[in-house]
Amino acid sequence: MSRCKGYAALKARDALQPYSFERREPGDHDVVIDIKYCGICHSDIHQARDEWSEYQEEAIFPMVPGHEIAGIVQAVGGKVTKHKVGDKVGVGCFVDSCRSCPECKAGLEQYCSVHTVWTYNARDTQGAPTYGGYSDRIVVDENYVLRMPGNLPLEACAPLLCAGITLYSPLRHWKAGPGKSVAIVGLGGLGHMGVKLAHSMGAEVTVLSQSLKKQADGKRLGADHFYATSDLETFSKLAGSFDLIINTVSAQIDWSQFLDLLKLDGTMVIVGLPEKDIPVGAFSLTARRRSIAGSQIGGIRETQEMLDFCSRQGIACDVEVVPIQKVNEAYQRVLESDVRYRFVIDIASLKS
Ligand code: NAP
Ligand code: ZN
Ligand code: ZN
Repeated sequence: MSRCKGYAALKARDALQPYSFERREPGDHDVVIDIKYCGICHSDIHQARDEWSEYQEEAIFPMVPGHEIAGIVQAVGGKVTKHKVGDKVGVGCFVDSCRSCPECKAGLEQYCSVHTVWTYNARDTQGAPTYGGYSDRIVVDENYVLRMPGNLPLEACAPLLCAGITLYSPLRHWKAGPGKSVAIVGLGGLGHMGVKLAHSMGAEVTVLSQSLKKQADGKRLGADHFYATSDLETFSKLAGSFDLIINTVSAQIDWSQFLDLLKLDGTMVIVGLPEKDIPVGAFSLTARRRSIAGSQIGGIRETQEMLDFCSRQGIACDVEVVPIQKVNEAYQRVLESDVRYRFVIDIASLKS
């Protein structure tokens, strides 16, 4: 075992504080990563506050959050072939899976029907708790480690590992592209990547935000249109307009009101994860043969495809880099929708 430094919530809703803990010694297939940056995802906040207790077997405290991990390979096990010392690498939301179920075989490890090992707040195959990227180092099997774009700043790429892939995967699955009208609901960490990615895929992109405060940013990120959902006219004006809506909102909203914005055969994909079930009006679905669907991050193969796509297109995240000592303030600002558009922790600050 080797000692690591990080920040943890000691129990649900506690402020995060300095914490040291053990990680396993690297095995033959492991990569040891010197973590440089870690994004702050709203899921970190949900979990540190234990807001998903209705849907999760257990929440494990002390909890070291963080699943948008970017760093440099420090050492590799004897049988590692995919990565070498000095490489720029990343780790997203999971660090292992069963590797043999149909989903794993199809490269959809995030839907593993046996056991996806989440990067933190989970148990590994030996039953030991996992700890995330708000820490100086992580040990991960080479098959769950991604190659980061060499041509883009590492800090701006870290959030691609969750925010980026969570939008890329449904945009590809529901075929966003030329001739398709796509709405992104909520311009936060996930939403701003949705705008950049859908625009680069050639879709006509509309942002539906609570107010017009972020309008100039939305347009700069690639949106063709921007509407405030606080203005009720938005819903009458845009009724029946979209082929695809991706809903990133982390709170309760009027879901049927958004479904009514879909065209015939349109789909609303839920990626935001509020703490309670979402009520949906049957008539909003039947009226135009509409669908409601969900999507969860992406598999290793698709995450690498997304990173390579972003590298070619020159797409990275708009980030505000903060020292780890400011993590609790950053959480508060995310909760107030006051993030432009992803906080990223500079892990070097752990040393100070
Ligand atoms: P975020 O940065 O906080 O963005 C969420 C955005 O939703 C906010 O910026 C805000 O946008 C809007 N919003 C917030 N509260 C709202 C309210 N009460 N009513 C209407 N709109 C509201 O969060 P994120 O990191 O993008 O994550 C968003 C959600 O996705 C979280 O629930 C997270 O857990 C989940 N998530 C899911 C997956 C997956 O695989 N499915 C992956 C990662 C995260 P405006 O200011 O533009 O209104
Ligand atoms: Zn996330
Ligand atoms: Zn599996």
